Amino acid sequence: MSCKLRMGMVGGGPGAFIGPVHKIAAELDGKIELVAGAFSQSAERSRAAGAGFALDPARAYPSYEAMFEAEKLRTDGIDFVVIATPNHLHLPVAKAAFGAGIAVMSDKPATATYDEVLELESVVNQAALPYGLTHTYAGYSLVREARALLAAGALGPIRKVAVEYLQGWLSAPLEASGQKQAAWRSDPALNGPGGCIGDIGTHAFHLLEYVTGLKVTSIHAALATIVPGRRLDDDCNALLRLEGGASGTLMASQVAAGERNGLRLRVYGEKGSIEWRQQDPNRLSVKWLDGPEEIRHAGGSYLGADARAVTRLPGGHPEGYIEAFAVLYREFADGLIGWRQDPSQAMPVTLPGIQAGVRGMRFIERAIESSRTGSWVNF
Ligand code: NAD
Repeated sequence: MSCKLRMGMVGGGPGAFIGPVHKIAAELDGKIELVAGAFSQSAERSRAAGAGFALDPARAYPSYEAMFEAEKLRTDGIDFVVIATPNHLHLPVAKAAFGAGIAVMSDKPATATYDEVLELESVVNQAALPYGLTHTYAGYSLVREARALLAAGALGPIRKVAVEYLQGWLSAPLEASGQKQAAWRSDPALNGPGGCIGDIGTHAFHLLEYVTGLKVTSIHAALATIVPGRRLDDDCNALLRLEGGASGTLMASQVAAGERNGLRLRVYGEKGSIEWRQQDPNRLSVKWLDGPEEIRHAGGSYLGADARAVTRLPGGHPEGYIEAFAVLYREFADGLIGWRQDPSQAMPVTLPGIQAGVRGMRFIERAIESSRTGSWVNF
C-alpha cells in the first residue's frame, strides 16, 4: 500500500482551470497522490475526469457527499480533500469534509461571503483538523526571501506599499459567450459579491500582508464595472493604511487589456525597498537608499534559509507557478503528518490558513462597503 497521503478532489472536471494544477502540484514532491474525486456536478463528467486522471473508476464519485460517505469507510480512504470549485461551494464542501473527519486544502477565496468565512472559521476551530488555503504566490522562494528581509527589519520601518494585480482576460463580456470560468465568476450567487476584488484582489491583499507582516487597518476603495452588463466589479483602485503608519495602494483589474497575470509588489522602508513581479518570479530587486540596486536570483546560495527551504533547483533553472503551488502542498503534507503524530502541533506558519481566509474575506467586504459609501472604512 502506498504511504503517500491520499488526496480527494472536489472540482477539477473536464475543462477546469485549477483542479489539474492542484493535482500536478500536490504530486510534485512525491508525498501526495490523487486517489479519488467528485470532479463535477455531473456524474458522467466526474467519471470522465477520473478516467483522465487514471483513477479507480469506483473512486470517481457523482457528488462530494457520496465521496466523503464512501471514503470514510475505506481503510485506504482519503486523508484530505482539495476544494477547487467555484466559491459558493467552498464552505459546504469544507463542512462536509470536516464532518467526515477529513482535513481540507481549499482554494481561495476561502468562501463566497464574509458571513460564510466566520462560519468556516468556527467549523475549522471545532473540527481541530488541518486546513490550508492555496494563496499560491506565498509559495515562491523570492516571496519568502522578501518576507524574511522585512521581518528582519532590513529595510527599516515600512513607509509605503504598492501592490497591483492586472489582468486583461475579462476586457470583453466573455461570460455572455458561456465561457465557463467567466460565467461563474460574474454570477454573484456562485462567486460572491466581490468580482475582480475577490478573484485577484484577495491575492494582492494576501501577498501584501504576507510579505510585510503588517495588517491593513483601513481602506478607501473605488470598485467599478467597466464592461456593460457585467454583474460584478471588474476593476478596483484602493488606498490603504497599515499598522505602524505605512500607507499604500492596491490596484486590481481584469479589464487591463494586454495584461496577462501582472501581479507586482513594491515595499518601501526608510533604508530601501523591494520589488517582486509574478511574471518574472526568479528575480527579487532590492534597492538601497545609499547603495546600488541588488538583483537576487532564485536558487542563489546567498539567499536566506526561508527561500532556500523552498527551492528545488540551482540558480538559472527557472521555477514557477507549479513549483510555488507545490511548496504549499509540501508544507500542508508535512503539517498533516506532524499533526497526526501530535495533534497539538500547529501547521507551518508559512502556509496560509483560516486566518488568511478571514482576512481575505474581510478585505472584500470592506472594499465593497468603502466603495458603496465613498469613504474610508476601518477593518
Ligand atoms: P473552473 O470553472 O475552471 O472549475 C470549477 C470546477 O468545479 C469545474 O470542473 C466544475 O465542474 C466543478 N464543480 C462545480 N460544481 C461542482 C460540484 N457541485 N461538485 C463537484 N465539482 C463541481 O474554475 P477555476 O478557475 O478552476 O476556479 C476554481 C476555484 O479555484 C475558484 O475558487 C477560484 O477562485 C480558484 N482559483 C485559484 C487560483 C490560484 O492561483 N490559487 C487560480 C485559479 C482559480
